[in-house]
Amino acid sequence: MRDKQARPRVLVVEDESAIRDGVVTALSDEGCVVEGRADGSTLGADLTGFRPDLVVLDVMLPGRDGLALAGDVRRAGDAGIVVLTARDAVPDRLAGFGAGADDYLVKPFAMAELVARVRAVLNRRGRWPGAVEVGDLVVDEPAGSATRAGAALELTATELRLLGYLVGNRGRTVSKTQILTQVWGYEDYDPNLVEVHVSALRRKLEVHGPRLVHTVRGLGYTVRA
Ligand code: CA
Repeated sequence: MRDKQARPRVLVVEDESAIRDGVVTALSDEGCVVEGRADGSTLGADLTGFRPDLVVLDVMLPGRDGLALAGDVRRAGDAGIVVLTARDAVPDRLAGFGAGADDYLVKPFAMAELVARVRAVLNRRGRWPGAVEVGDLVVDEPAGSATRAGAALELTATELRLLGYLVGNRGRTVSKTQILTQVWGYEDYDPNLVEVHVSALRRKLEVHGPRLVHTVRGLGYTVRA
């Protein structure tokens, strides 16, 4: 296992240079080591040479498409995969998860959203160095700990994963389906499962201060101090 303080390595395969350059810059600014490619022709060499912790894959690429490449990434090791799809290409999204993608973004997307998704996937895999802070809450998911106002929170493993996913996406609203997919690994569970765990998490968080995990009615949840 790699040193968790090492900078995360991200490979970006996107033929549209403006998007590729934007993603490379945004993730570099977050402290990642990033390489950009216009197609998947060097993917095999990149997986063994650059050894990315996460690969951002556009679906529509010259040569082999992003979903075929996702299969290669999944077979080669345990790198995270975030797929970029065209607007409303629902079959692409479903195929993306079938091909082993951890998450997807629909174009056009805000760079802040891409960064949040990448951070959440890396965090969940223990590849995001250090702790994430929201107000007086500090979540160090790789270290398996969380504190609020300096007090250690006694969280179950599921609650810590849930909290880690929520704070990894701070500033965004995440749906119950996204939470089921990302925290439980499958989207077909009962959404009440999410509500039950959010309630339990809130009880533990709110012993130490005001509400942090907010309900966005009809959409899901967001974390903000
Ligand atoms: Ca493309």
